[in-house]
Amino acid sequence: MAYVITEQCTKDNKCVEVCPVDCIHPRKDEAGFDEAAQLFVSPIDCIDCGACVPVC
Ligand code: SF4
Ligand code: SF4
Repeated sequence: MAYVITEQCTKDNKCVEVCPVDCIHPRKDEAGFDEAAQLFVSPIDCIDCGACVPVC
């Protein structure tokens, strides 16, 4: 099952930098970043590698 980001997300983008498949959105260069309350993981693309967990 894909990892899920909660409302505690601060949008510091640490997870985006380490995700090998770029499945965390919106990235800073994507539309909607400023408006987004938090980031989210695309469950279709996440490969459950766990790289985003220790940096969060
Ligand atoms: S578990 Fe891996 S693939 Fe899934 S969001 Fe985290 S870093 Fe990306
Ligand atoms: S590392 Fe955690 S707090 Fe930072 S953007 Fe990712 S989910 Fe949000």
